[in-house]
Amino acid sequence: MAESPADMRVFILLGPPGAGKGTQAKNLSQYFHLTHISTGDLLREQIHKKTELGKTVDVYMQSGQLVPDEMILHMLFERISAEDCKKGYILDGFPRTLAQAEKLQVYFTQNTIEPFVFNLDLSDQEIIRRLRDRLICAKCHTPYHLFNSPPKKAGICDICDANLVYRSDDQPEVVSKRLQVYHKQTAPLIMYYKKLKLLHTIDCNHTEQEIFNQMLLYLNISLTS
Ligand SMILES: [Zn+2]
Repeated sequence: MAESPADMRVFILLGPPGAGKGTQAKNLSQYFHLTHISTGDLLREQIHKKTELGKTVDVYMQSGQLVPDEMILHMLFERISAEDCKKGYILDGFPRTLAQAEKLQVYFTQNTIEPFVFNLDLSDQEIIRRLRDRLICAKCHTPYHLFNSPPKKAGICDICDANLVYRSDDQPEVVSKRLQVYHKQTAPLIMYYKKLKLLHTIDCNHTEQEIFNQMLLYLNISLTS
């Protein structure tokens, strides 16, 4: 049966590291039953499997640099053509550069897909504070925060009982580098999507639930029902 692109929901989440892209992607994924695609997770999977791509990617990530476009694009287009993406998907951490966005937009136009782009906005100061206290499950990648969303048992994942770890790319010096890279290479995306009239900016100095409600409001969905 041919899929109807009109029924597809495709979300793009823009925003600096630590603004809550992963958390909100998970919320959207659960609410709309869509596949959550984190390019960070796809890359970490390659590293974990020690593929050729993974070994190259590891060098870039450890030093806080962006992984080259062609590597990411290859991995991503393969992923979104999978069966579980037929009804739509949420892109978390992609696109990161204007070149990636333009290539993605060519694909969307060819497939008559109109993405919904959320720009999760947060100050550098707040980002550094949030990332310093962030933990992630080593097994299922569920994010936690020491103060905002701590696990029930210290150091243990609520969902799968695996150990929680600090991510090496959350260390302060790597975060500063990531923010510099972010502002320089990713901020132009905001202008790009603004011009296409696809951008919806969300102030992320609110609770997780308030932020999600704000996103649903943009989609004309009210949680009061
Ligand atoms: Zn877990």
